[in-house]
Amino acid sequence: MRWLVTGGAGFIGSHVVDRLVERGDDVVVLDDLSSGRKEFLAHHLDAGRITLQVVDLTDFEATLPHFAGIDRVIHLAANPDIRLGTRVTDTDLRHGTIATYNVLESMRQHEVKGIAFASSSVVYGEGAPLPTPETHGPCIPISLYGASKAAGEGLIGAYVGTFGFRAWIFRFANIIGGRGTHGVIFDFIHKLVATPERLEVLGDGRQEKSYMLVEDCADAMLHVMEQTDAPLTLMNLGTQDTCSVRRIGEIVIEVMGLQAHMDYTGGDRGWAGDIPKARLAIERLLDTGFTLTCQSEEAVRHTANLLLKEIVG
Ligand code: NAD
Repeated sequence: MRWLVTGGAGFIGSHVVDRLVERGDDVVVLDDLSSGRKEFLAHHLDAGRITLQVVDLTDFEATLPHFAGIDRVIHLAANPDIRLGTRVTDTDLRHGTIATYNVLESMRQHEVKGIAFASSSVVYGEGAPLPTPETHGPCIPISLYGASKAAGEGLIGAYVGTFGFRAWIFRFANIIGGRGTHGVIFDFIHKLVATPERLEVLGDGRQEKSYMLVEDCADAMLHVMEQTDAPLTLMNLGTQDTCSVRRIGEIVIEVMGLQAHMDYTGGDRGWAGDIPKARLAIERLLDTGFTLTCQSEEAVRHTANLLLKEIVG
């Protein structure tokens, strides 16, 4: 099997590539290295096990040729920073919606029929029932990032319905683990390195979300792609519990061996467009026979230990 992984030099992408290489499959990575890092793939590049093409997916002509001879695509490339949309309003449109169109159109022209897409829980928008099932709707996102994910899902549905593609749309909870380059645990460690006695927490700390370990996320995607054969599979990926931002702060402070006090900026959310409470229903995932290795709090503690080593050494 020859895979093309967009965003394969990123946090989640590099773990997906690890799994594909372990299986003995061929892998081509397309990544512009904007937030991804070549060193996340160095072990496979040095061994000649994968090909990395540094390509910006917003450039259709540069993207198209790389889809020749590909069996399946895992499309993970996107701007990972939801907050950026509060300041720069076209990033998610270009690196989310347009990049996804370019991937689908390149697939169509080279007759590649299967795609897995990294969508997000934020497509459900505000006020969804918790835990949120895949059947919830209408889905009205409240961030530009969420809008680009909803647009990507719509485009994929169109290519499935019009051109006979097969697709797996995965709506991820918060994904955490080693090689993380963004997110709350990463931010907290950096803040505490700068000011060990004080941790600034965005919002009131009561935001509560699910945190899934990146290895579980990668394994779940590949497992579901093997187990389901409908033209379009829509599936939440997450854990069955949540962890509050306040609790994450306590765990990071403890893991770093500090006595810092937490200062809250106030308000019910970290930034405009943030969804303060999120938990996905994952019965569909569990019904495929997939087993999680851990729930949110254990994933947070494990990640805090790993990222502390990666950031501080
Ligand atoms: P990441 O930033 O580490 O990975 C994204 C990758 O895409 C990076 O390697 C980046 O260099 C690349 N990229 C961005 N724009 C590109 C472009 N125009 N052309 C080529 N490459 C480009 O982030 P991640 O956390 O690994 O996220 C992977 C995917 O999962 C993204 O689509 C993200 O929206 C989605 N997702 C992540 C989470 C999470 O908690 N990490 C949650 C929900 C959804």
